[in-house]
Amino acid sequence: MSSNSYRNGSSIARGGGGGAMKVENHSSKYSPSSAFKSKVQQPTPSSSTSLRRSSTGSSRDDSTVSRRVRVAVRLRPRNAEEMVADADFADCVELQPELKRLKLRKNNWDSDTYEFDEVLTEFASQKRVYEVVAKPVVESVLEGYNGTVMAYGQTGTGKTYTLGRLGEEDAADRGIMLRAMEDILAEVSPENDLVSVSYLQLYMETVQDLLNPANDSISIVEDPKSGDVSLPGATLVEIRDHKCFKGLLQLGEAHRFAANTKLNTESSRSHAILMVHIKRSVKGRNSSLSSENGSMTLMGKTLKPPVVRKSKLVIVDLAGSERIDKSGSEGHTLEEAKSINLSLSALGKCINALAENSAHVPVRDSKLTRLLRDSFGGTARTSLVITIGPSPRHRGETSSTIMFGQRAMKVENMVKIKEEFDYKSLSRRLEIQLDKLIAEHERQQKAFQDEIERMALEAQKRISEVELSYADALEKEKLRCQTDYVESVKRLEEEWKEKQEKHGHGKVKVGPSDDGIDQKSNGVPPVLFSPGEVAEIKQKLHSEILLRKAAEAEIDNLKSQLIHWKQTEAARNAELLKLRKMLEDEVGQKAKLEEEIEMLQSQLLQISFEADESRRNLDRGMGGNTPSSMDSLMPEVKHQQLRNSGDGEKASVVKLFEQVGLHKILTLLESEDADVRIHAVKVVANLAAEESNQEKIVEAGGLTSLLTLLRSSNDETVHRVAAGAIANLAMNETNQELIMSQGGISLLSMTAAKAQDPQTLRMVAGAIANLCGNNKLQAKLRAEGGVRALLGMVGCRHPDVLAQVARGIANFAKCESRASSQGTKGGRSVLIEDGALPWIVQNANNEASPIRRHIELALCHLAQHEINAKEMINGGALWELVRISRDCSREDIRALALRILKSSPTFQAELKRLRVDYG
Ligand code: ADP
Ligand code: MG
Repeated sequence: MSSNSYRNGSSIARGGGGGAMKVENHSSKYSPSSAFKSKVQQPTPSSSTSLRRSSTGSSRDDSTVSRRVRVAVRLRPRNAEEMVADADFADCVELQPELKRLKLRKNNWDSDTYEFDEVLTEFASQKRVYEVVAKPVVESVLEGYNGTVMAYGQTGTGKTYTLGRLGEEDAADRGIMLRAMEDILAEVSPENDLVSVSYLQLYMETVQDLLNPANDSISIVEDPKSGDVSLPGATLVEIRDHKCFKGLLQLGEAHRFAANTKLNTESSRSHAILMVHIKRSVKGRNSSLSSENGSMTLMGKTLKPPVVRKSKLVIVDLAGSERIDKSGSEGHTLEEAKSINLSLSALGKCINALAENSAHVPVRDSKLTRLLRDSFGGTARTSLVITIGPSPRHRGETSSTIMFGQRAMKVENMVKIKEEFDYKSLSRRLEIQLDKLIAEHERQQKAFQDEIERMALEAQKRISEVELSYADALEKEKLRCQTDYVESVKRLEEEWKEKQEKHGHGKVKVGPSDDGIDQKSNGVPPVLFSPGEVAEIKQKLHSEILLRKAAEAEIDNLKSQLIHWKQTEAARNAELLKLRKMLEDEVGQKAKLEEEIEMLQSQLLQISFEADESRRNLDRGMGGNTPSSMDSLMPEVKHQQLRNSGDGEKASVVKLFEQVGLHKILTLLESEDADVRIHAVKVVANLAAEESNQEKIVEAGGLTSLLTLLRSSNDETVHRVAAGAIANLAMNETNQELIMSQGGISLLSMTAAKAQDPQTLRMVAGAIANLCGNNKLQAKLRAEGGVRALLGMVGCRHPDVLAQVARGIANFAKCESRASSQGTKGGRSVLIEDGALPWIVQNANNEASPIRRHIELALCHLAQHEINAKEMINGGALWELVRISRDCSREDIRALALRILKSSPTFQAELKRLRVDYG
């Protein structure tokens, strides 16, 4: 498993990897060259290559094998002392072995995350450590490569435990040296192969033989052609079984102890180096090789040179990585201290050079790097285990150990970048999906409304149509009945007349009443009908009745239709109500979705910010020194801009900016949710660190929002981050005026007064320091208490804060000096008036160079004006000027101080009075 992860975990292989395997007596013996110089490695001559490939029987393609140094980190469990002393404190590291990550706590609210090839917790067994760290190297050594396993870390963190433990009480405790030898012995053949060992100690650039203590100055020999490193003077003991090897280790350990007692040092100051030489004869490829090389055949038997493969496993227990106190408090002279650390720092430099692909790898700078020359990087397989302790008291050493390991990993965190990319694309995909859903939802909602309107309109139309046609039909029917009736009456009258004329008188008397008196006839004589006529009339009457009934039926029919339509309308109304209800539900649903969007966006903000911060932390880590320049408030971003972005990575904040939009981010500054607020202000701060965003932020009201946050928020993180953002915005003149006009000084002073965290003060001081550099704002700045606010912060002795205060003072002094020279300002310096001089003098020779440099400049500015000279002499500044003129590290400042001292009559007089010769 381990060996697979070693190989498959490899990233890119550069160029053709030449094998370190050697073929004895082979005329075209290939030069492994300097293994340190992996990138100038030449491809192996073909004969060698083909031999190696076929003879190892491995199908592995060598071009895909990583040459990267594999780095594992191992955490030692708390020891008894730490159990007691650190009982109340959390460990300074947190391991995430499944992610192969380590988090180094910076403080209560922040930590840096690092990735390693392996992360071994305090519970990792020795067996596992061996399998992960060393086994792959041992396997490749058995295949004919050179290999190195090194342990690096502070004294007491478990380097010797990891490498050299003998496991006498508990066999499970056996360290890497023993386990490696066990694997080697199990693999080699006692008849054909040879395993031999030398064991050395390197102390103060002297190589001592731990197997023969009399041998205490062994020289290192390098073959100029092949680059092979050898130690002809060292004892070489052949190993046949691991018992004898264990005895040898014990002997070496005893000699190491004795040698160190004699030298009056501790083993932690020296490097212990175990070299295992393996010589294996190569079988199976002989015939083809010999014919290729033109060997002769005698009586069917091949006469050929024996082919032997030589390789070397070097296991190095490095000296403790802690800094040796320069003052020599442990009894070392400075010379000693320097050379004790020489090899270790040379190793660090080589690793840096390799990591940066630098053309020059300073291998020759120390014995250790010369010794490892053919065993490190390049064709060799190298594993580094860095050991750390959990105690927060040693955070500094732990951090520098981690940084060493990170540099050794050489290849940047590809995995991490990819992960981030994956995350981002996922979040982008989610957002696109979300947007699609929102759009779809809106479309459906619109369609609903349209449908409802259409149905309502149609229903209305139908109702009015039906009503209309009903009224129409009714009218028609009425008309028809009336005309029918009128016609019938007319016809009856005509018939009656006709009958009367026909029959003359007295037959059958027909009238409305049978009593012969027709009141309504008004004297019209009764008509007499024949029975046939009566029957006919009766017949007609009957048909009239039928007709009327039909009309009535028709009316009923229409009436029932009307009722039906009314019912339909009621049903429609009910449906309408239902749809309305659905619409309301949809609106509710939409609100929920919108809420969710907001939440996702805030999460996105948070994650992007975190990703950004951890990347920057990594960058900072890889960058080494803490920045000390005037723009130290934006080093991360500058660094990022400087960095080649060819790795496909883009500043996530910028993307976020594009995706979420500045206005949205600025609204989040006022979010109800404190977390969202904090993240938003962090994002704004990140944006503000980039010059190209600053104008947009200010235009969108971001500066005002940030200043408001200083006033309204009680959260120190918000204060710190907002002040940092303001400091960055305050680099531009227009913004400086804006900050001043919005009461920035009093807000910043207020923030400083409440601050607990030096970093908050640093940001505030940085902001004011930037304002101090504006010529136009001098008077206002002073009137509003800016200078005093700056001086008020020196109570916090944190060097970062002091450096910003010093920068502010230097800026102010520069502007003031300019104004004095131009005649726009008279009188003594405001800095002197406001009581800054004592602090300036006190810190003029501060050991922190950023503080010192700014103050030295400020002193020169002040001293340029004769009007300040007297006060400066009284305040003791003259001596500082003299010192600056003599040993300031910057030549221009040195010269300036000298010029001032020489040209100022007041200073000259004082120097004369004190009999200091300063002609
Ligand atoms: P170093 O060689 O780095 O100075 P050591 O290997 O001597 O450190 O370890 C210091 C102490 O811590 C020893 O007592 C050792 O037994 C103990 N120790 C180191 N690592 C472990 C571990 N992983 N588990 C248990 N004890 C350990
Ligand atoms: Mg040790």
